[in-house]
Amino acid sequence: MKFVTVSLLSLREKERGIKMRELNIIKIEGALHKWLCDNGINCDIDFDDDFCYDSAANKVTIGKKYNSDVRVLFEQFLYEYGMEYVGFDFYTLGFLHEIGHFFTYSNFSFTELFNCSIDKLFIISSDDAFDYWEIDDEFAANVWAINFINEHIEAVEKLTNIFLKGVCDNGC
Ligand SMILES: [Zn+2]
Repeated sequence: MKFVTVSLLSLREKERGIKMRELNIIKIEGALHKWLCDNGINCDIDFDDDFCYDSAANKVTIGKKYNSDVRVLFEQFLYEYGMEYVGFDFYTLGFLHEIGHFFTYSNFSFTELFNCSIDKLFIISSDDAFDYWEIDDEFAANVWAINFINEHIEAVEKLTNIFLKGVCDNGC
């Protein structure tokens, strides 16, 4: 059995049908691989509708679409738990969260991950976003992201620039 953590952010988008911004993969894929290499992060990446981390494939999937409401909420969450910077694009935060899963996944036993997945079943509304991000495996990923941002701000700014180059409003 594998655990794939699909971001609640994506669920919110679908619920509300809010206007999306979409990522142009061609513009950024090579730069993202280089960024990972430069920072010694050895996971694979892929693109699809939703952000997620697939532990069996050792792969971070980047969601291609987002809306700004979600960005504000997630940034607020990270800020409340100690992120010292604000104003990042959502892709940067979502991507670092999934890399956080990559680094923290092995800290959890099978039973613990199973219990986390059960907890997520009880998150039925987007209004529970903070509760979702506080579930143990999600929280570990978020803490990793917060620490990385606080300790490697120059690298995070580079990452933000990569994502911003690839974002456009109505498909690219
Ligand atoms: Zn997650």
